[in-house]
Amino acid sequence: MSSVLLRAQNIARSYAVHRSPWAKSSIIQAVSDVTLSVGRAETLGIVGESGSGKSTTGRLLLGLEPVTGGSVAFDDKPLPTIGSSDWKRLRTRMQMIYQDPLAALDRRLPISIQMREPLEIHRIGSPREREARVGDLLRAVGLSEEVARRYPHELSGGQRQRAVLARALTTKPDLLICDEPVSALDVSIQAQVVNLLSDLQRELGLSIIFISHDLRVVRQISHRIAVMYLGRIVEEGDADDLFAHPSHPYTRALVSAAPVPGKKLAGRIMLKGEPPSPANRPTGCAFHPRCAFAIDRCRSEMPPLADVGPSRKAACHLAGALPAASDASSKAVGGSIGSPVSLSEQIS
Ligand code: ATP
Ligand code: SF4
Ligand code: MG
Repeated sequence: MSSVLLRAQNIARSYAVHRSPWAKSSIIQAVSDVTLSVGRAETLGIVGESGSGKSTTGRLLLGLEPVTGGSVAFDDKPLPTIGSSDWKRLRTRMQMIYQDPLAALDRRLPISIQMREPLEIHRIGSPREREARVGDLLRAVGLSEEVARRYPHELSGGQRQRAVLARALTTKPDLLICDEPVSALDVSIQAQVVNLLSDLQRELGLSIIFISHDLRVVRQISHRIAVMYLGRIVEEGDADDLFAHPSHPYTRALVSAAPVPGKKLAGRIMLKGEPPSPANRPTGCAFHPRCAFAIDRCRSEMPPLADVGPSRKAACHLAGALPAASDASSKAVGGSIGSPVSLSEQIS
């Protein structure tokens, strides 16, 4: 048995968009050339600004929509065709958790009934075993039987997300893809739900893909992190290593905006401006209009995702030649490597 549970090889997804009935359609390349894998009992964090392709990647990994390039394999086998009986069977092993638990739950049914549903649909266990499994899972996510008898609108946001989690776990999945699972929750509740996910992962040996725009949250739970920018992975690797020595200027900006509580910030790099539209992708390195280090080559040549250490890859022409992260900002202002475009820095 391979240690890798899910592997995506050069996956891509494009959409044809029609701005008006008489205008020519344009192509949005939402995801391009994404290669990633998640191991058994491992958490891979996917982080990036809004529109960077995180959710699209999640849907492609789960087979909720087809790739327009590349391939996805689960347990060393290609994902079955969407909607086929093999795919439906596989879906019990891969579950998705979304940002809005209220939308994910059926408002007309009490939680306990909704939790039994997947077991009934897939004919898993006897009625008594189903009852026992629901009870076990409610305890595992910290919900009482009394709470489970209520309807979704009678629960708090944190309780609802726990209920969604418990329901996703009823079919004993191997993989959870969590798309911004705590973004709608209060900060104090966010930490509780993230800790719960970590505990469940350890106890159940789950693999998790945790998607968020918030690097602080991703950091709390991930073993490895993939940073996405405009549909591509620009840096990927061991979470601790990536935080300690971010190689890509974009990762540096994200890391510097997600300080560790109690640690003094050496230099903060502010990420300015909006990412460009994927319908109008800049030439060369897509980050160059915002990069303080951009050189001529960056405007014409796309950097490949290449090794920058034993456990890390980055897509930057200057990854090995940039100043150390802690003094990167002062060098950027001095313009010793490239003239600053729209990254600015402030020492706090
Ligand atoms: P957010 O943090 O806001 O959720 P994201 O990183 O999850 O963003 P995606 O939702 O994957 O980003 O979208 C990536 C790009 O693809 C965006 O420009 C989005 O507008 C576009 N896109 C996604 N789905 C579609 C679709 N069905 N049709 C057209 N464009 C789409
Ligand atoms: Fe892209 Fe060049 Fe900046 Fe590297 S230095 S992130 S290649 S623009
Ligand atoms: Mg999204």
